[in-house]
Amino acid sequence: MRPIDKGHKDQEYKPYNTAKRDLMEAIGPYCSYCERSIVTGGAIEHKQPKSKVRSLEYSWDNFLLGCVNCNAIKGDKDINDSNIGDFVWPDTDDTYHKIKYDPITLIPAPADNLSDEDKERVSRLIELVGLDRPVPKEGSLTYRKASDTRVEERKKCAAEARSYKAMYLNLVDEAKPVFITTLEYIVQCSGYWSIWMHEFEDIPEMKEALLRCLPGTKIDLFE
Ligand SMILES: [Zn+2]
Repeated sequence: MRPIDKGHKDQEYKPYNTAKRDLMEAIGPYCSYCERSIVTGGAIEHKQPKSKVRSLEYSWDNFLLGCVNCNAIKGDKDINDSNIGDFVWPDTDDTYHKIKYDPITLIPAPADNLSDEDKERVSRLIELVGLDRPVPKEGSLTYRKASDTRVEERKKCAAEARSYKAMYLNLVDEAKPVFITTLEYIVQCSGYWSIWMHEFEDIPEMKEALLRCLPGTKIDLFE
């Protein structure tokens, strides 16, 4: 999960959805949780639900961007000042290094090197937005309705990232800069930034490009 720095804004956004363009400019049009592109959809996500914590309905610090699946699963589950620290959040934690993805299933889980407390916090966030829900069984109603394709999309993206990496490693040096620029565009369109980053982070010039190709990535966590 891409860690983000959306900056601070003092103003209130009333109604709250007037913050959408500012948020998209600050962190890019991607779901803050599953990282899919939400150029044509998605909504303001209130970390502390507006139905429960009215005082933060218009507050920038309480906003993220959410896709239809992450938003629907999170719903108005009770997050408030007293338990918000029980979860990791992409705008306040290093969610890139704290979450790992199974290389085959692409299901996320807490990274191995975390304290027990941090593992719990990661697990709670994953559960909060259902990021570990597997691909539904082929032929099942959920599968046919294609109502939650997040893991499938993530898997497809991982396969693409692997094949682009193989291509990159076979290029002559002169061809690499153009390839990197092209890949930046591909990542911007595809979303799922963390999946690309996990694949390319051992190639310094590619890592550098990925850190700078989307707005609002918290790059100081990668130095
Ligand atoms: Zn999402």
